[in-house]
Amino acid sequence: SPPRPPAEDISPRDVFIAVKTTKKFHKARLELLLDTWISRNRDMVRDGDRDGWAVPRNVINTNCSAAHSRQALSCKMAVEYDKFIESGRKWFCHVDDDNYVNVRMLVKLLSSYPHTQDIYIGKPSLDRPIQATERISENKMHPVHFWFATGGAGFCISRGLALKMSPWGARVPWAFGGHFMSTAEKIRLPDDCTIGYIIESVLGVKLIRSNLFHSHLENLHQVPKSEIHKQVTLSYGMFENKRNSIHMKGAFSVEEDPSR
Ligand code: UDP
Ligand code: MN
Repeated sequence: SPPRPPAEDISPRDVFIAVKTTKKFHKARLELLLDTWISRNRDMVRDGDRDGWAVPRNVINTNCSAAHSRQALSCKMAVEYDKFIESGRKWFCHVDDDNYVNVRMLVKLLSSYPHTQDIYIGKPSLDRPIQATERISENKMHPVHFWFATGGAGFCISRGLALKMSPWGARVPWAFGGHFMSTAEKIRLPDDCTIGYIIESVLGVKLIRSNLFHSHLENLHQVPKSEIHKQVTLSYGMFENKRNSIHMKGAFSVEEDPSR
C-alpha cells in the first residue's frame, strides 16, 4: 500500500507486543528473541526505569493448558488482550515466538493510523475469506465468512477497536477473557480466526492488509534482500515440508543459524 502521512506521533512505549510462547519453546525460541529484537528494545520491556533488564516482570504465566488445542490457544489470546487493556497502551500487537519484530518499522506503520479509530492490521493467511459456521444454539447454525490476519505473521489492533471487542464495553474490559473462549467455541476456529470473526463479522470493521507481516507459511525466500529491513515481522520454520527462512548473509552459516 502507498505510504501514508503520520497520523500520530507514537513511540515504542505506546505499543504492547504480546509474544505467545510455551514452556517447550523457551530455550529453542524465546532465547533467540531475547538475544535479538527484544533486547534491542529494552525501553519497551523495562516498564519504568528501575534497574536494567527486567524480563521476568514481563513474562506472564497464563495458567492456560500447555496443549496445542483451540481452547489452550484462545485462553492465551484472552490473557494477551486483558494484559493489553490493563497496560493502557495505544496499540496491541500479537506475535508468535518464531517471529522477529522490527520495532522501528512497526512503530512507523502504526503511526500512520489514529489509535482511537477502529484499526485491525495484518496479513490474511488465505486469498479468500474463511467460511465458518456460527452455532447460535443447539440446532441453529448460521454461515459466516470473514477475513482474518494470520497469527503466525503477527497483527495489531488499535485501542479504540480493542475496547469495542469487549461486549461489556470499556468499563469492565477484563470480562473479555471468558467471553473470547466461548466465542472461539461458538465458531470452532483457532484464536486468530476468532479475532477476525469478532472484528469483521460482529463489529463490521475491515482488516487492513499489510504485506509487511510475514509468517513461515509463506515462502520467505521471496522477500527481496533489499526490502528485508523494511519489513515489520519476519519468521522462520517449515513451509511445504521444507526449511523456510529469509535470505540473509551473516557471520553464521545456515546450519549454525537456521532462523537467520
Ligand atoms: N504454542 C503454544 N502452545 C503449544 C504449541 C504452540 O502456545 O502447545 C505457541 C507457540 O509458542 C507459537 C504458536 O503457538 O507462538 C505457534 O506454534 P508453532 O510455531 O509451533 O506452530 P505453527 O502454527 O506455526 O505451525
Ligand atoms: Mn510457527
